[in-house]
Amino acid sequence: MSTAISYTPRSKYESSHLSMFNIAGYAFLFLLISISLVHAIIISVRFEVLQTYGATNFIRAEQLAFQIHKGLELAESKNYEFCSDEDLKHLRKIKSTYFFLDDIGRVSGNKILCTVEKGMLDSTINVGPVEITSDKGFEYRNSQTDLIRNEKNKPIITYQNSVVFVSSAYLHLSKYGHFKVNGMAGVTYQNLGSRYVYSFFGNLLPNQIEPSVAHKNTLSDWLPLPNNFITMSQCNGIYNICITAIDTRPGLYAIPLTNLIIILTVLIALSFAFGYTLENFRVGPKAFARRLKSVIYQDNIYPVYQPQINIETKEVVGVESLARWDDSTLGMISPEIFIRVAEDSGLIEKLTKKITNKIFLELSDVLEANRSFTVSLNISTQLLTSDTFINFINDAVSQYKFNRNQVILEVTERTDSEKGKMASFSKKLKEQGYQVSIDDFGTGVSNLSWLSTLEPNEIKVDKTFTQSIEEQTVTSITLEGIFSMLEHLQVKVVFEGIETEQQRDYIFKRVPKSIGQGWLFAKPKEIDELKEFLDFCFNNNYLPAN
Ligand code: C2E
Ligand code: MG
Ligand code: MG
Repeated sequence: MSTAISYTPRSKYESSHLSMFNIAGYAFLFLLISISLVHAIIISVRFEVLQTYGATNFIRAEQLAFQIHKGLELAESKNYEFCSDEDLKHLRKIKSTYFFLDDIGRVSGNKILCTVEKGMLDSTINVGPVEITSDKGFEYRNSQTDLIRNEKNKPIITYQNSVVFVSSAYLHLSKYGHFKVNGMAGVTYQNLGSRYVYSFFGNLLPNQIEPSVAHKNTLSDWLPLPNNFITMSQCNGIYNICITAIDTRPGLYAIPLTNLIIILTVLIALSFAFGYTLENFRVGPKAFARRLKSVIYQDNIYPVYQPQINIETKEVVGVESLARWDDSTLGMISPEIFIRVAEDSGLIEKLTKKITNKIFLELSDVLEANRSFTVSLNISTQLLTSDTFINFINDAVSQYKFNRNQVILEVTERTDSEKGKMASFSKKLKEQGYQVSIDDFGTGVSNLSWLSTLEPNEIKVDKTFTQSIEEQTVTSITLEGIFSMLEHLQVKVVFEGIETEQQRDYIFKRVPKSIGQGWLFAKPKEIDELKEFLDFCFNNNYLPAN
């Protein structure tokens, strides 16, 4: 007889239900995190540069402060008549030593009397108002004078009757100095409670001086927000001269636009790859197997039992155990689906062992009390190709007092490939005292050729045939073939899926000594309900109403 029907259950859980919305969500999160990370890495690398940048300018600022203070103190150290030849000679010597001083001279009040460069000044030139005075009496002035090379706003500092003009060389050095870094800036200032700014340089506007110098770095500066900046300040304790170095384009903002576009494109691609991988891990085909694994290990797969009835005598002769998985979020999942997944992912052995132990534990009292009562276990053919399973079942049964022939091992084969091996294992099982049954007979390769190979104690006609009774279909024609074959076979026959009285009566007419299993008699039940059902049947000798 050739194969009639083969069905391949495809699971909605197995087929990847990846949500684009979730993938985009994960990708967005990943993008945010990776951008922040890349940004923070660039900031920290540039922070080293910022330190060097600050330190280089700081050394010059310290030299400047030293030369201003020392120059003025030395100028005051002699009591020559102001602006006399001797006095100017004394001042000239100081100027030639301290190269950051453009000029040095004498003042009286706010008026400049003479300088080394200009000599005696007949007109009265003002040094500008005092901005800050230090506790030692140094006066830092806001100069408006164009005395020195017509440059305005240059730092002028007075001390008693001496004045120094800070060199343009210093200012130019700090402005255009040898050390220039994209996006970095600095401010040199005298810190005397309030600040006297000598110079600012790099990528900085005058109105950014005060906020930059007052800035204290916080964690939020490390976020990739526009207008964020990072500063680093250091001061000299003797002269109170300070420098604040500023990274005005921190992190990603320092990167040229084309490079930035490349980096962002790579990050976006990586983000979507990450989003896809995560979603696939969460709900993809392997996720279902992972979920099944944890359910098996947590002992959450449980058996139910479907009674089998002698059609002629209406006696309950045994039960078939069927695995159930009631998932907390996915709901009830059919064994057609999870058994297939367990087989494909190497979990079937663990699942079968756990559920078999449970079945024997729950049912041993019924089996021990009724020696003709049987339990049928569905066994994947995968498990029957090694000795481990036979050893396992022997050990499991040996813990109880029921007989091995009360255990029927149901096998279904969908491929012919391991037929030879199966035959020898079926033989071994029968020699050891178990019964072997061919499940889903008539479908796939479970047909006549299997019958002669396995020589089973029982065959179970698939429910598709039972349900085709009284129909004029190909299946019902095949059923006729099965019936005429069964009439000549000395093997126990179970009909699955009997739902109506017509089906039962028809089967009874054709194969009177057969066993029926189906919703007409009883649906699969959990152990407590099964025991109530069996008590009723054994005491009343007929089946309870369904
Ligand atoms: P099966 O061994 O052929 O089991 C019979 C299936 O028919 C069961 O489906 C049962 O609930 C269902 N059934 C019984 N009476 C009727 C009926 O009157 N009408 C209809 N429409 N269906 C009926 P279930 O429980 O969904 O199991 C499906 C298959 O999953 C089983 O088919 C068996 O191949 C496999 N399976 C179940 N438990 C296990 C297990 O513990 N181990 C292995 N390896 N396979 C299992
Ligand atoms: Mg079965
Ligand atoms: Mg079946």
